[in-house]
Amino acid sequence: MINPTQKPWRPLAAPALNWQEDVPAAATAGDIYFSTENGLAESDYIFLQGNQLRDRWSTVGVEQPFVIAEVGFGTGLNACLTLAEWLKDRPEGGSLHYIAIEHAPLSPDDAERALTRWPELAPILSSLLARWPDPIPGCHRRRFPEWGVTLDLWWGDAAEVLGDLASHAKPWVDAWYLDGFAPSREQGPWQQDVYDAMAALSQPGATFATFTAAGAVRRGLNAAGFTVRKRRGYGTKRDALYGHVREAMNLPNSMTPWDINPQPVRARRALIIGAGLAGAHAAYALATRGIEVTVLEAGSAATGGSSNLQGVTYTRLSHQHNPLTDFSVAAFGLAADCYQSMAAAGQLTEGEDFGAGGYIQLHDDDETLEHLRQTLPLAPGFARVMRAEDIAELTGITPRCGGIHYQRGGWLNPAAVCRALLSHPRITVKEQCGALSIERSADGHWQSRDCEGEVLASAPIAVLATAHGVTHQTDTEWLPLNLIRGQTTHIPTNDALAKLHVSLCDKGYLPPARGGVHCAGSSFGPGDTDTDERPEEHTHNIGMMKAALPDLTLPEPSGGWRGHVAHRCNSNDYLPVAGVVPDLSAFNAAYDRLRHDRKRLIDAPCPTLNGLGVLTSLGSRGLSAAPLAAEVLADQLLGGIPAVPRYLQRAIAPARFAERALKRGESL
Ligand SMILES: Cc1cc2nc3c(=O)[nH]c(=O)nc-3n(C[C@H](O)[C@H](O)[C@H](O)COP(=O)(O)OP(=O)(O)OC[C@H]3O[C@@H](n4cnc5c(N)ncnc54)[C@H](O)[C@@H]3O)c2cc1C
Repeated sequence: MINPTQKPWRPLAAPALNWQEDVPAAATAGDIYFSTENGLAESDYIFLQGNQLRDRWSTVGVEQPFVIAEVGFGTGLNACLTLAEWLKDRPEGGSLHYIAIEHAPLSPDDAERALTRWPELAPILSSLLARWPDPIPGCHRRRFPEWGVTLDLWWGDAAEVLGDLASHAKPWVDAWYLDGFAPSREQGPWQQDVYDAMAALSQPGATFATFTAAGAVRRGLNAAGFTVRKRRGYGTKRDALYGHVREAMNLPNSMTPWDINPQPVRARRALIIGAGLAGAHAAYALATRGIEVTVLEAGSAATGGSSNLQGVTYTRLSHQHNPLTDFSVAAFGLAADCYQSMAAAGQLTEGEDFGAGGYIQLHDDDETLEHLRQTLPLAPGFARVMRAEDIAELTGITPRCGGIHYQRGGWLNPAAVCRALLSHPRITVKEQCGALSIERSADGHWQSRDCEGEVLASAPIAVLATAHGVTHQTDTEWLPLNLIRGQTTHIPTNDALAKLHVSLCDKGYLPPARGGVHCAGSSFGPGDTDTDERPEEHTHNIGMMKAALPDLTLPEPSGGWRGHVAHRCNSNDYLPVAGVVPDLSAFNAAYDRLRHDRKRLIDAPCPTLNGLGVLTSLGSRGLSAAPLAAEVLADQLLGGIPAVPRYLQRAIAPARFAERALKRGESL
């Protein structure tokens, strides 16, 4: 299982390499990453042919993806070859989910050097290199909807990652690639825990293939429940192993499964209420999984909390792991990739819809900054600590102190993001519906009614993405959500500010100009539902800017400051709420014993409202939180493979509040 809470946070170090021509070898293991003879032919023979993939792909249906899991991603050779071959043989409407695990990820430069010799891999390799994840522990999902491919790159220990995935007790995997350095050189994936988790995650008939024929590997796989066979090895190697799962292995439940949806829905239609960032990302996540989605909105899309002219893609780092910062870092990585891909596809226009360049978070010198100063050089593309002088040189504006430059992401126009996501051909948007409610109909579908009682849509899957409005729906009124007013100030640009190409953030934020205006923010009014624009909140915003950037002169425009008011929604633990909605009274009954024994493991499935999901509580970080929260939600609803470790799934699950209440001896 993965749960690094309270352990020091640090990026993963790239492996030290010795190059033999252009074939890398790991200095510690003293072994090459692939055959010096012909790594590509070896990969094809051992892994694709060893798992009979080309034959099996022809039978992949539209309902479920074909799932390959690779233990030992290495240079990415097996993944690139598999994707290249998948694109040649892809069945109509079929999709491939490729999971790869690596505890010492290569830098993209090293991966490129290792793989450029094969022109047949070039299209896949260049796409992958452009979206190569930073060496931050955890899962980095990369979706390629145009190829029908989802790639989950888990940077971490194989036994921990597979144990974490196996804890969901779902047989997801169709084929295994068991790669790594020679078992005699490095323990790597050659562990019983890994084999046991592989068996637990295997679909009936799942196959495996590996280059080795080591006796310990054969015995371990056999003990885990695989039928193991030998065949001729590649090149000078005498034998290699392959086989299939003989019997499903049931690992004992290590925690109460209150965060797991026991009844994923096999349906092709969904409705979503709310067309802000949450609704748009949820709709996109479902549509790219083949679901026809209807989005219903009270007013116009992106006119609620998502109506600011500009927002910054934020994250937050700490010197220690904890669910709040770990989710925010994971979400930031996915969001940066998502918006970069949208920009590359021409869905967002630079300068109008987004500005790259990242953002600088001012940060007083403290233990955290010192820790990050030491560790961030391991992830040079992600973030770096900067002195005040360096920030002044980069931006032309002197800040009150140094800070952290997060180099990915930047600013976005939330409405443009919503528009682009909602333009997916499988999404239909209905606006001006007025306040809608949701209820279950006699046929078990969810239907949304307007205030006159007319049913506007009905589907087996429904998602509430109405921000604080979810507390007005019967099934989710118990969620502990707060409404927080925020007013931004529209600062006309001037000579000093016009050069700004990176957002500057302290208590407030100042992005580069969009159309001659910087949308700076913002005030913070918990519980304040008013929407009137207030001069004192503009004064507050300008005051924050002046405190952060003391040399900056910001003369008030002749007509006074103007801006915009909107509302955020936050839960009492500041994390998003994303997942299936529990059936609260049945939940309280099923897990009642937690009141008396909070550590008790109750092996009972979570009672859920089948097909109903919620995505809200995006707080002040909707742009960065929404893409990952939407992925988690879509996977929960449909039974897909999670893009986060289990402790983060639990950290954002709607049921967490009900579980915590029981552990306090109460019930919601
Ligand atoms: C001042 C301010 C500054 C911010 N700055 C940033 C920033 O810099 N970076 C960042 O990432 N985030 C920022 N945020 C936060 C971000 O904007 C929010 O997290 C995000 O917009 C929330 O999206 P949402 O879809 O959950 O909510 P909303 O955008 O509010 O969408 C909910 C939608 O549901 C609709 N709805 C509600 N009830 C019903 C109903 N019953 N029937 C039908 N429709 C309904 C509403 O009309 C609305 O359109 C800021 C927010 C504010 C207010």
